[in-house]
Amino acid sequence: MTKRIYADHSATTPLKKEVLDAMMLYLTENFGNASSIYHEGRECKKAIENARVQVAKAIGATEKEIYFTGSGSESDNWAIKGAAYALSGKGNHIISTVVEHHAVLHTLKALEKEGFDVTYLPVDEYGMVSAEDVKNAITDKTILITVMFANNEIGTVMPIAEIGKVAKEAGVLFHTDAVQAIGMEEINVEEMNIDMLSLTAHKFYGPKGAGALYIRKGVKIKRLIEGGAQERNQRAGTENVAAIVGLGKAIEMATADIPAKKEKLSRLRDAYIKKVMEKIPFARLNGHPTMRMASNANISFEFIEGESLLLMLDMKGISASSGSACTSGSLDPSHVLLAIGLPHEIAHGSLRVTFGDSNTMEDAEYIADSLVEIVERLRMMSPLYEDAVKSGRVK
Ligand SMILES: *Cc1c(COP(=O)(O)O)cnc(C)c1O
Repeated sequence: MTKRIYADHSATTPLKKEVLDAMMLYLTENFGNASSIYHEGRECKKAIENARVQVAKAIGATEKEIYFTGSGSESDNWAIKGAAYALSGKGNHIISTVVEHHAVLHTLKALEKEGFDVTYLPVDEYGMVSAEDVKNAITDKTILITVMFANNEIGTVMPIAEIGKVAKEAGVLFHTDAVQAIGMEEINVEEMNIDMLSLTAHKFYGPKGAGALYIRKGVKIKRLIEGGAQERNQRAGTENVAAIVGLGKAIEMATADIPAKKEKLSRLRDAYIKKVMEKIPFARLNGHPTMRMASNANISFEFIEGESLLLMLDMKGISASSGSACTSGSLDPSHVLLAIGLPHEIAHGSLRVTFGDSNTMEDAEYIADSLVEIVERLRMMSPLYEDAVKSGRVK
């Protein structure tokens, strides 16, 4: 069997050994219910509170402001619906962008059906929203601004500190889906004036099914899950102690040395992009040239289908993505690629490679070399390419 190269770290990441080791005790010996007052319960409670401190430290918050959830999607749903329902007496207007993750977009669509009014701000050709546009969209009915920290498909990092400043000056709550940004960008909720922030462990080498929502002290949102008094009465359900412990350990490791990690990943990413752009004609790099996640390279190749590309890469042992993992399997082109102005047929021929901790420079070179070969082969079979040759566009 050929060696596998995993290059889809924006879809999910492998669990780190140290994280699994930290979790193991709570999957075995310390199996208690954290709400119980005897020994086993208290041990679990302590472990959860320790993880809460780890999460708080990673984003410049205090532990009382951290709430554990079951996923990044749940955190997004809770922040947005919770704020909308809590503030519906004040207004019904929400500001967001057209490039958000579906966990945000579909939540907003659901709220629109309930009478909320949502402004979806456009982005520029690099996928960037302007803080000025956010400011101009605010009305006296605006109750929430929700803008993602970094885009999961094209890697563009949004001007979060500027938007935070705008939100603060206007007295409007500001939520950010920072799922992709944890461990990739320095985050400080105080300095950036962020009121709510979503994150999920499986995007930074922690377990799946473990998320958290930061809610600034003093901000009151409605809870979504009713039942027991867990998470200071804000999110019912017996805690997934092992997953929470894993989340805490993973975020501590992921945020320990962000500059070094960015340095390493961007070297791989840049070498890959350089080779692909030099060797493959009719290719276009999507996302911002500099304000982008160090891990992300999203490139469109004219005249071919992203799905065929993925299959052929898979045969060469490479795991990558044609867009976001959640939309693959659907034939609709990515809403993000359409939002940055790509025509349908070009959006369809896009490949997202996202590097991670285990990747090496050899991996980056191998993926690029494989692509050169595969793109050429697919184009030879492509009727679109044949037309372009006939018309003289391709020489
Ligand atoms: C992965 C992802 C989510 C969803 O997180 P889950 O834990 O998988 O529910 C939300 N937003 C962004 C930007 C993501 O990349």
